[in-house]
Amino acid sequence: MKERIAEIKNRVIRSALSCGRDPESIRIIAVTKTVTAEKIRMAIESGIQIIGENYIQDAREKYPLLSSNEVPWHFIGHLQTNKAKYAVKMFDLIHTVDSYRLAVELDAQAKKINKVQQILIQVNIGKEKSKSGITQETAFDLIKKIGGLNNLRVKGLMVIPPFYDDPERTRPYFAALRILRDRINSLLEPEDIQNIRMEELSMGMSGDFETGIEEGATLVRIGTAIFGERE
Ligand SMILES: *Cc1c(COP(=O)(O)O)cnc(C)c1O
Repeated sequence: MKERIAEIKNRVIRSALSCGRDPESIRIIAVTKTVTAEKIRMAIESGIQIIGENYIQDAREKYPLLSSNEVPWHFIGHLQTNKAKYAVKMFDLIHTVDSYRLAVELDAQAKKINKVQQILIQVNIGKEKSKSGITQETAFDLIKKIGGLNNLRVKGLMVIPPFYDDPERTRPYFAALRILRDRINSLLEPEDIQNIRMEELSMGMSGDFETGIEEGATLVRIGTAIFGERE
């Protein structure tokens, strides 16, 4: 695992440099669905600095076993409103906010524990029925509205493109997310900047993170390439 992580870090650096980006502007999230706490600890000891979980229930089991390791946890799965109270307790960044209703609940739960919760907005660029996320067309209005919630900070956008074997085929989805982020930034007004800072692009997984980086990813979510195939 140590070697795999070192190799991924090298690939991140190489692809950043190949397109003139600062490698430090890209963070690797180790995606730990189905991965045991013990293996997560090994990954942290091998240089992983962010943990990404898909399921609240799994995170609630593993988090107490690992919280002494002091790395931030990100939530990358579909979040149900009734789990918002657990999410704000464990996660530094929630990548998958896709409705105002969910945002309101996260804001209320964050307020209860005196926290300002950082979030990303999940965009369903491919308009796939099977995937969560809002449409590109509604993103700006939703983000403006969420900007009125004082215990949330909108940090950027996230996408899960349709699955392809060829990473070149995901490039248009990544490019579309970057263009959308830049357009939203250009439309924001000075008073929005208190709660909305569109800096992050969460895009790219084991099979296509280099393409993601070339298109501007600041967060890449990598599971299989670190931990091996999931059962
Ligand atoms: C599982 C998962 C990943 C990681 O996928 P790999 O192909 O194993 O790297 C990334 N993002 C999300 C949202 C996932 O559910």
